[in-house]
Amino acid sequence: MQCYTTTCSSSSRSRLGPLHKNRSNSTMKTTTAFFGGCRRLQTSVYASTVHDIVPTLHDVSPLKLYNTMTRKKETFVPLDDKNVTMYVCGVTVYDYSHIGHARAYVSFDVLYRYLRYLGYNVLYCRNFTDIDDKIIDRANAVGEDPLELSKRFAHEFHVDMDTLGCLRPSLEPLATNHISDMVDSISKIISHGHGYAVEGGDVFFDVASLPGYGKLSGRQIEDNRAGERVSVDGRKKNPEDFALWKSAKPGEPTWDSPWGPGRPGWHIECSAMIRSLLGETIDIHGGGSDLMFPHHENELAQARATSCCGGAHDQDYFARWWVHNGFVNVDSEKMSKSLGNFFTIRDVSESYHPLALRWFLIGTQYRQAINYTQRGLEEASDRLFYLYQTLFDAHTVLEGDTSPASSEAALLEEVLDALSDDLNTPLVLAAFSPALKTLNDLIHTKKGKKRPDRIPVMRDIVYSLDVSLGILGLRPTDFRQVLDELCAVALNRADLTEEDVQEAITQRAEARASKEYETADGVRKKLEARGIYIMDTPAGTTWKPGCPTAE
Ligand SMILES: [Zn+2]
Repeated sequence: MQCYTTTCSSSSRSRLGPLHKNRSNSTMKTTTAFFGGCRRLQTSVYASTVHDIVPTLHDVSPLKLYNTMTRKKETFVPLDDKNVTMYVCGVTVYDYSHIGHARAYVSFDVLYRYLRYLGYNVLYCRNFTDIDDKIIDRANAVGEDPLELSKRFAHEFHVDMDTLGCLRPSLEPLATNHISDMVDSISKIISHGHGYAVEGGDVFFDVASLPGYGKLSGRQIEDNRAGERVSVDGRKKNPEDFALWKSAKPGEPTWDSPWGPGRPGWHIECSAMIRSLLGETIDIHGGGSDLMFPHHENELAQARATSCCGGAHDQDYFARWWVHNGFVNVDSEKMSKSLGNFFTIRDVSESYHPLALRWFLIGTQYRQAINYTQRGLEEASDRLFYLYQTLFDAHTVLEGDTSPASSEAALLEEVLDALSDDLNTPLVLAAFSPALKTLNDLIHTKKGKKRPDRIPVMRDIVYSLDVSLGILGLRPTDFRQVLDELCAVALNRADLTEEDVQEAITQRAEARASKEYETADGVRKKLEARGIYIMDTPAGTTWKPGCPTAE
């Protein structure tokens, strides 16, 4: 067990501090008791922010991270004791990002947060591909300058990542700001005998010249045969050779190079920027499984060929850990535009809270395929509401309590052990369930309220949950605000207004008063079928969102 303890209990108090402060501010006074009585949402669902976390003080099992290169989980040890370099392939910015992107960047955000929690300084770099065939095609189709279009969608990408609670990486380079680095890498690849320029100004990578090509993906060169559906460029030595530089075509943005005006191939972008910004060897290279081949295989080939003769270095070279997240399927089918089962983060956020989408995504371990279903999002929304309502109530009970939590809170240890096992986030979410039940018993039941250890037990659980949610990127600055937002999106899904629900509550009360219990029950069931649950509490009748029942 490694111990990162240095700052001790004052830091433990300070972590609880901001939430204690929040409880006493004026917005809290406007809220009602148990289950809140959902108010109409005044702010956008995008308004909530998510707390970052601070390094803390627990014994933590060493982090084991699956390495695609070695096909096994390995104890993560960075090259430099305290500093980690991590590069994750970013988006090609020509459209809104979809839930596949959400999956990838939420996965790496959790890894980023956890590495920081473990006390590492993490230099996290994620690029924007801001020039590419797809960008040029889209720009031509809509009559916009390609670089303006990519700038616009880079902004939209940031909006989506912010709503999902993803921290901004340390560096977010634009490909077009690093053309000279790419030209430099291509020149080296050519001079080392692994690239060649052809008539017309294109440059290709000579795959056959590099021993060990295919090691990362496990593919043989023959698998890489181009030309099955498109005709092979006859200027290539071999069909599998890929473009390092593409000569200028009329109407496209171009840059000067020793081979004439043109633009870089896609694969060279990442390896050249890594070399320029992070160095020759990084600790972690990440991306979706779909990038493993050919993109990452080609990045690795380029990096080896840029550096020297290519054959001398093996897996430890360029990226020490290759980390790949799994696919997103929709209703058990591959997500694709042609199947019409393609969802942007923006689409999903209209009906579900972005943090519910985040909860849903981390409900599957990052390497496994996720099956995206509406039911899954309904359940995630329901769990998140329960979690935040419980924490809101618990913080209310603990108001004024300034004692530090025990440094050996059992729940937190369980969470950290799960995270250290290749980020087993579903195990973390499962560990929350009994803890939340205990909290609710302590908050609401007669027996729980009488327990002599009520406050210390609550304090430890709340502390563990706060820290865990910080690592998962699920700890909002204001639970009440997100609860209200969850209510607002539930009303949207139900196609109801707050007034409609209040009217139904009145109808039900009138029916009950006239002993028409069947009618009253009918009103309740109708709402439940739309995901709105009426709650009778000592403070009066209110409602909360939940999973819609079959009518
Ligand atoms: Zn890349």
